[in-house]
Amino acid sequence: MSGDGNTHTYGTLVGSAMTDNGGGPGSRCSCKVGAAAGAYGLAGVHERLEERWHGDESVRDLAAWFNRELLRAALERTGTVPIDGEVDNLYRVLTDDGVDVGSRRRARQRLRDDGVTVEEVEDRFVSHQTLYRHLVNCLGATHEPDREGTEERVETWRDRIRSLRNRTVRVTERGVDQLSAADAVHVGSADVLVDISVLCEDCGEFSGIETFLDERGCACEQPSSPDE
Ligand SMILES: [Zn+2]
Ligand SMILES: [Zn+2]
Repeated sequence: MSGDGNTHTYGTLVGSAMTDNGGGPGSRCSCKVGAAAGAYGLAGVHERLEERWHGDESVRDLAAWFNRELLRAALERTGTVPIDGEVDNLYRVLTDDGVDVGSRRRARQRLRDDGVTVEEVEDRFVSHQTLYRHLVNCLGATHEPDREGTEERVETWRDRIRSLRNRTVRVTERGVDQLSAADAVHVGSADVLVDISVLCEDCGEFSGIETFLDERGCACEQPSSPDE
């Protein structure tokens, strides 16, 4: 990226604009998220956060998304037009623990050359805990795990358990075959069966895993908030 002659002028403007926390587009509350959104003029960011959350994005991913929006805004304010994927990559280099010190130093220097006050942007980055509090306390958002997500989870586990059972059958068959061929065991035409069942010690219901999944458990009362 080129640092052209305008860099310093823009840099100064950015510095003064960023001390102003309130009033501008994006300001809505005074928590760290609201203050950062206000300072960088991220209009509509709160609505988008809420939408994405309801779209089942994790709060951790949302915080990273928000921080990348901050970084993008900081770059754009200096007149830099980030190329595709550049902000994502910069953010990763700045924050990922696996990145080596040299790469991080170069990325920060590059941002400085572009007129970005790196420390200021980094100070604005929010944790997923902070973002969660903003969603719940400031925006009053609530998150119900949706029906579709539950369905998907059950089917994912159904597939895993099925393939585990099939593997157990195959391995056991091989064992029986080899032992039989070595005359270590004597058996006619053998079939291996693996039944996986769940017994609830509270209500005593005993069901095959397929039934258990189909009926979403046993006769016990469903807890008010299923934990994960
Ligand atoms: Zn807030
Ligand atoms: Zn039960």
